[in-house]
Amino acid sequence: MRNQIAAANWKMNLSIKQAEQLITELLATDHTVAGHQLVIIAVPFPYLLKAKEMLAGKTNVYVAAQNCAATKNGAYTGEVSTEMLKEMGIEYAIIGHSERREYYHETNAILTQKVNLALEYGIKPLFCCGEPLAIREAGTHNSYVETQLKESLFHLTGEQLKNFIIAYEPIWAIGTGKTASSDQAQEMHAHIRQVISNQYGEAIASTISILYGGSVKAANAVEIFGKADVDGGLVGGASLVATEFAAIINSLKK
Ligand code: PEP
Repeated sequence: MRNQIAAANWKMNLSIKQAEQLITELLATDHTVAGHQLVIIAVPFPYLLKAKEMLAGKTNVYVAAQNCAATKNGAYTGEVSTEMLKEMGIEYAIIGHSERREYYHETNAILTQKVNLALEYGIKPLFCCGEPLAIREAGTHNSYVETQLKESLFHLTGEQLKNFIIAYEPIWAIGTGKTASSDQAQEMHAHIRQVISNQYGEAIASTISILYGGSVKAANAVEIFGKADVDGGLVGGASLVATEFAAIINSLKK
């Protein structure tokens, strides 16, 4: 089976004390992580090392950055490079979250640079795609997401793409309490897999985990994750509550 993944995106939330408490609480919850399952926790930059230290030795549990710079190094005040992340032992980074695309004007071309640097330094991208409400309502969501993937990823080789986790996050469902239906999620995930297959072949497309993101919570995770092409979730709000996130981990396909 493909890797099934519960990924937490804390965004710009929690004090360091609250972050430590959340990890402590999560570790104390009743959850299991089987061999083909991964838990990835994307924390604010200043908490990366502390989170890594607290989760050291936990099988299949990883700490991720929520972003990385589009340039290698130099006079880019406030940026954090993929090389720095690598040096800190970070293995994953979210790239292309819709909040970065929207508020920080990250274009598909900028994301290409981030993706290239991540691969250069051995960081595995958790690459986000997804359409705004107007595109969904216009019925052009499939081609919109296809363009996001093509413009940021399709210069890569199949071997490079195998390092990726893709997260489909319809923007209208992020932080809104509105979830895509499990059928809408499955339809888009199957489309994404088909688009990858058309470019790279079925063998590669079938190995890539595609996560759903958008108001996932304990109450809807089993149904969404149960769909054939949904390999887990990227979870914002619900990942800030240990028992909720533990239940989401336990909802991954066995
Ligand atoms: C996200 O941050 O990627 C996300 C999906 O947020 P939420 O679960 O709160 O909708």
